[in-house]
Amino acid sequence: MAIANKFPGKDISIEDIKTKFPLVAKKNKQHKSKFTVSGVEFGSKLIPVFAGPNMVESEKLILNCAKNVKKAGAHFLRGGAFKPLTFPYRSSKYYETREDGIKWLKKARDKFEIPIITEIMEERYLDIICKSADILQIGSRNMQNLELLREASKTKKPIILKRHFGSSLRDLLGAAEHILVEGNFKLILCERGVSIPHTHKSTSRFALDLQAIPALKELTSFPIISDPSHASFWSPWVPSLTYASIAAGCDGLIIEMHPNPSKSKVDPLQPLNYKKFKDVIKQSRKICKIFKRKII
Ligand code: PEP
Ligand code: MN
Repeated sequence: MAIANKFPGKDISIEDIKTKFPLVAKKNKQHKSKFTVSGVEFGSKLIPVFAGPNMVESEKLILNCAKNVKKAGAHFLRGGAFKPLTFPYRSSKYYETREDGIKWLKKARDKFEIPIITEIMEERYLDIICKSADILQIGSRNMQNLELLREASKTKKPIILKRHFGSSLRDLLGAAEHILVEGNFKLILCERGVSIPHTHKSTSRFALDLQAIPALKELTSFPIISDPSHASFWSPWVPSLTYASIAAGCDGLIIEMHPNPSKSKVDPLQPLNYKKFKDVIKQSRKICKIFKRKII
């Protein structure tokens, strides 16, 4: 019996998914959803890499990152202009760059010919973000913002849906179904770490749920990507979690990088510097060979 027919926790099975969420459910064991975004293949052997700073802090920063993301051979430049920040005050250093950030992303896209992914938090910004972004990210905190999911889907832009850190796979797949129902099938699901009991909090804020990768691949054919940066919150662990994600079968990677991580305005412990990023990619190529995948 396939594991998916008897998941621990018993709130999920392939039959359950097929009945309740027919669009997201896997058709058969071999089936993979394949599509191309701005020339980059999803659902193939390739493991596309989304790299960049957490936040589009300034024009200078994002142009610098774009140059280095491109040089490293990564596929997408990623950065948030609209951000779900813990701190609400614009007077603090944690301020979003919003419309300006989107403008700078567009400039980076045009100058370095690199596709862009950025987060959408509210329907009212869809128009402006869609003019610059190749992929929309719906972040973990908005995973079940169903109105946003449906409106984002209607734009026909490819969407990365991040799993909320407290949600089950069933809830993630249910949220995904809300996107598919509107007719947009360019969908990518992302594991980004789950909350862990307070007894473990001294080592980690979240824990990458590696098991979610093979589990989701049994249940759905859509590409499953991994975000070791947000999961670990701690750059020294990003390389190991990247390699483990490849071994677990991920179909893409979000890796945060910043020219000067300690100066990052958001989560400065998380990004890799350029050199470390390049090292991770180099090592990942070796791991990919073992699993007959391709990275850069
Ligand atoms: C992000 O991708 O920058 C982000 C805030 O991630 P998450 O929604 O997974 O916390
Ligand atoms: Mn972030």
